[in-house]
Amino acid sequence: MARIPFIAGNWKMYKTGPEAVETARKLVDLCADVGKVEVMIAPTFLSLALVSDCVRGSRIKTGAQNLYFEKEGAFTGEVSAAMIRATGSEYAIIGHSERRQYFGETDETACKKVRAAIQGGLKPILCIGETEAERDQEKTFLILDKQVSDGLKGLGPDELRDLVLAYEPVWAIGTGKTADTRQVDEVHQYLRSLLSRLFSADFSDRIRILYGGSVKPENAKELMNIKDVDGALVGGASLDPDKFIKIIKYYL
Ligand code: PEP
Repeated sequence: MARIPFIAGNWKMYKTGPEAVETARKLVDLCADVGKVEVMIAPTFLSLALVSDCVRGSRIKTGAQNLYFEKEGAFTGEVSAAMIRATGSEYAIIGHSERRQYFGETDETACKKVRAAIQGGLKPILCIGETEAERDQEKTFLILDKQVSDGLKGLGPDELRDLVLAYEPVWAIGTGKTADTRQVDEVHQYLRSLLSRLFSADFSDRIRILYGGSVKPENAKELMNIKDVDGALVGGASLDPDKFIKIIKYYL
């Protein structure tokens, strides 16, 4: 089954509302002829409704960088799946390494968020990836195994039909270091077989697995050419529409 390529931009804690809208407008123009690739941008919560309004009717979709797993209640500072969905957003990034590193995200909380996202009508993008120390200790597959198994615990293939996995080696995020094609190929093949083992071959075949970690116009082609790579989760280079479009256009 053909998987539609997916390029997602994580804007992290960059851009005020007006800046986000300006960038989104430029991207809408640049993406006018982008047919066979799905494009998503994830601005801050504060800009999500503004940017979603701005891209409505275009090829660009929006997503949140996080969500809280409760439906509603006295959870000061948090944002629910329903609130995100109400902006017109389709996706939620979950378990990003920066959330794991700085905000106490665990596989268990990520799993609750995956469930909450699905129940709230959002498509989850579950981020996984090993640290440099874990790779040096040859624990990469062990870590990924745990992150996927625990991050999706108790969820079935039907619920997870819109799942997107993003393999983001922590040592390659925002560092300018990119995993080499052999490393990416090896991990993506491993993840494909892991999904097959945990669910089914058919399920595994349908799920998109993105690579993330210092993807830029200069390295997009070789990374996106890898068989089991279905697109990219892009941080830094997604902030600049002229760079981001070059990554998107690799698929045209
Ligand atoms: C990310 O934020 O998910 C990411 C991959 O960042 P960068 O592209 O800047 O490494």
